[in-house]
Amino acid sequence: MFIELKNITKVYSNTDVTSRALHDVCLKVNKGEMIAIMGRSGSGKSTLLNIIGCLDKATSGEYILEGMHVNHLNHKQLAKIRNQKIGFIFQNYSLIPKYTALENVMLPLLYRKMPYKECKKLAVEALEKFDLIDARNKKPHQLSGGQQQRVAIARAIVGEPEFILADEPTGALDQQNGQDVMLLLKNLNRAGKTIIIVTHDETIADYCEKRIYMKDGTVVG
Ligand code: ADP
Ligand code: ADP
Repeated sequence: MFIELKNITKVYSNTDVTSRALHDVCLKVNKGEMIAIMGRSGSGKSTLLNIIGCLDKATSGEYILEGMHVNHLNHKQLAKIRNQKIGFIFQNYSLIPKYTALENVMLPLLYRKMPYKECKKLAVEALEKFDLIDARNKKPHQLSGGQQQRVAIARAIVGEPEFILADEPTGALDQQNGQDVMLLLKNLNRAGKTIIIVTHDETIADYCEKRIYMKDGTVVG
């Protein structure tokens, strides 16, 4: 088993106990799967994704990632897992405005303290893969939404992560660009990447082989 969540509960400390964001969530994800997490706004999707992505910790329950008990890790260890194992893609692209496309894609590698030249070489290769080489010296505001999301995908995969987490990756794109982004993700999945996508959009979920539905902080199907 690649990812296993056992009875994950999340209570935000600034709210009362009755508004638990997650309650007893169990989930298994195999290596190489592409799954969609679906549900209405407020059902707990982002909270679940934050926990799977090691951005936040569960209040109780167990999260086992490739045999590692994530709950027992400290902040530094979690940061290392995020940097080395996980590629993140967000609805609003989350590129750094003052950096060029190339610099944005280099960041996860620089953070690993890889030599600058090597970072640049790998980032250029990732940009080429997504047909973005002409955009490499442009800043995010000079790029279209579709281009920005492709840069974000290049950044997510440049470090060869073991899995990709995407939160409404097409939410800010028109239909054509959204479809292009989903095809890119599908191709990454065919090449072996495990991908977990949060979406409320059935047409996006159609690209996934498996779906889980959430309601009021629990998995309902
Ligand atoms: P989405 O449903 O598009 O994923 P949300 O509006 O649910 O986005 O959440 C956006 C951000 O706001 C998330 O980081 C989430 O943790 C935070 N958030 C959501 N609800 C609350 C709340 N009641 N109090 C504080 N932060 C919240
Ligand atoms: P979704 O992504 O499905 O919209 P979320 O995971 O963002 O759902 O939210 C689930 C529930 O937890 C909601 O009731 C939301 O208001 C609450 N919540 C989310 N983030 C926070 C937070 N940081 N602080 C307090 N409550 C939160």
